Amino acid sequence: MSLTLHGIGVSKGIAIGKVHVVRNDILEISHKTITKVDAEVMRFKNAIDLAHQQLEHIKEQIPKNPTVDITAFIDSHLLMLEDSLLAKTPIDLIYEHSCNAEWALQMQSNEIIQIFEAMDDPYLSSRKNDVEQVVNRIQRVLHGYTDISFETTLAFLANTIILADDLSPADTVLMQHQGILAFATEYGGTTSHTAILARSLGIPAIVGLRRARPYIKADDTLIIDGEQGVIFVSPDEHCLRHYQIRQNEQKHFRAVLGKIKSSPTVSKDGIPITLHANIEFPEDMDAVKRVGSKGVGLYRTEFLFMNRHSPPEEDEHFDAYLKVINAMQGGQVTIRTLDLGADKQILSNHATNCNSALGLRAIRLCLNNSKLFKPQLRAILRASALGQVRMMIPMVTSFQELEQIFIIIKEIRAELQKKSLDFDPKMPFGVMLEVPAMAICTDLLAPKVDFLSVGTNDLIQYTLAIDRGDEAVNYLYDPLHPAVLRLIKMSIDAATRADKPISMCGEMASDSKYVKLLLGLGLRYFSVNPESFLEVKQIINNSNIKDLTKFTDYTMAMNSSSKIAESLKNINS
Ligand code: PEP
Ligand code: MG
Repeated sequence: MSLTLHGIGVSKGIAIGKVHVVRNDILEISHKTITKVDAEVMRFKNAIDLAHQQLEHIKEQIPKNPTVDITAFIDSHLLMLEDSLLAKTPIDLIYEHSCNAEWALQMQSNEIIQIFEAMDDPYLSSRKNDVEQVVNRIQRVLHGYTDISFETTLAFLANTIILADDLSPADTVLMQHQGILAFATEYGGTTSHTAILARSLGIPAIVGLRRARPYIKADDTLIIDGEQGVIFVSPDEHCLRHYQIRQNEQKHFRAVLGKIKSSPTVSKDGIPITLHANIEFPEDMDAVKRVGSKGVGLYRTEFLFMNRHSPPEEDEHFDAYLKVINAMQGGQVTIRTLDLGADKQILSNHATNCNSALGLRAIRLCLNNSKLFKPQLRAILRASALGQVRMMIPMVTSFQELEQIFIIIKEIRAELQKKSLDFDPKMPFGVMLEVPAMAICTDLLAPKVDFLSVGTNDLIQYTLAIDRGDEAVNYLYDPLHPAVLRLIKMSIDAATRADKPISMCGEMASDSKYVKLLLGLGLRYFSVNPESFLEVKQIINNSNIKDLTKFTDYTMAMNSSSKIAESLKNINS
C-alpha cells in the first residue's frame, strides 16, 4: 500500500530508489545470572571475533582516496577490540559475577567512559564516543544482530535512500562516498550541518520525519522530494511516473542554467555582484569550477578534523589549503578557522541531542586550545604567500576575543619570519557576524577588520533562541523575522559606511526565495553552496536593484514575517 510522509525538505532534488534503514538505537541490556560460565565466555569471544570481521569488511570497502581519513578511524576501532580493557576485562567480570556477557561488557564500558569523560582535551574526551561505538557493535552481535549498522553494509549503500533516526555530518560524509541517492532522518533542522552538507553535496534530503521508521520496511521503494519535504512509500504507477517526469525536468533546468556559467554576475541595472561558493573539502573545488565560481567565500575547515583521532598537523592543513588555492587559479579563497562544537562533532555517530551551541564552540574552543588553533593559523598564513587568501574567524562574541586573536597572529608572524617562511603581511582578516551582539556592534567592529561575513545560520539561531538542529522548534527558524532582517540591514549599512566589504555566507544567501530581498537590503557579495550557485546567479542577473531597494524599504516597515513572505512572493513571481 502506498503512503505519504511529511518532514522538512532541506536539500532539493528528487530521488527514486530502494530504502536502506539505519538502526543506531541504543539496546536494552538486562542482567542475567549464568550457570554455564565457560560457554558465556566463549559467546563473548565469538562476538569480539565477529565485530572484528565486520570492521575488516568495512575497511575493504573504503574507496582509495576518501575525502577524510576513514581508514584510520576504522583502524582505531580494530585496536580497541584487541585492547584487554574491552577484550579481556569483561571475561574476568563474567567469571567473577557469573553474569551474562552483555552485562559484563556494559559494566566495563561504563568504567572506561567515565575515565574519558573526566578529560579536558576535546580529542581525548572524544575517544569516549569510540568506546561507545565499539561497545555498541559488540552488544549488537551479542543480541544476534549481524547487520550491526549501516557501516557493515557499505557496499550496498550505493544507489539506496538512507533512512535513519539522525545522521552526523561525519556519517553523511562516510555514506556519500558510497553513492547514496538521498537521505531522510527523523531528527534534524533546516540549517543543521548535516543538512548544509547534503545541499553542498547535492544529495536530496529530508529531516524531521518524526517516527517514520515504523512505516517503512527494508527495501521499500521510496520517492524523496527534497524541496517539498515529502516521502512517498511504495508509490503507485501514477505517482512514480509523475516524479520520473519531474526528475527529467530538473535535469533539463540544470542544463539550461549551465549556459550562464561564464557570463558575469551583474544586475539588470548594471550593478556588479560578487558571487562566490562555499566549500567543505578541497574536493568540492570540482563543483566550484563546474559552476564557474571565481572564488571561495567560505571554506569550512572543520571537516578536516572529522572522523579521526588527532587534529591535523600544520602541513596537512597547508596541503589542503594549497589544493584549494591551486584549483582557484588566482581567485579569492576565504579560509574560515575551525568551527567545531555544537552539531559539528569530530566523530561519526556521535549523539547530538544536547545543545552545545552556546558552549565551547568555534573561536571559543580555539582560544581555549592553542594546540588546535596555532597549527591552523600558521598554515593559513603560509598559504597566504601562494594565493589570494583571506582568514575568517567564526562566532566572535567580544572585542577581547578579537584582541586575543590579534596577539596570537602577531606571535605566529614573528615565528614564521624567524624561520624565513613566507606569508602575506597584508592578508585580509575578517570575522563572521553570527552572534547578534556582534552584528549590533558592526559599526565598532568594522574599523578593526578587513571584511565581514554574515553567517545567517547561526545569526538566526541565536537571535530567535532556537537550536538550528532541533526539528521540534524548526517552525520558529525564520529568516524573515523582522529582527533578523533588521540585524542584516544594520550590519550591511554599518559595514558599507565604514567602506568594508560585507558578504553573506549563511544558507539564506543560497536560498532562491531570499536573493531579491537581500539585494534590496544592500547585499553585494553572496557566497553560496555550489548546487545553488547558478540559480542565484540567474536571479541576480534578472533583478533590477533600484526597484528592489524600494520594495525592501516598504517591507522593512512590516511587523510580521508572514506579511513579508507574502510580499516577497509577489516580487519573486
Ligand atoms: C552560518 O552560521 O551561517 C555559517 C555560514 O556557519 P556554519 O553554518 O558553518 O555554522
Ligand atoms: Mg555558523
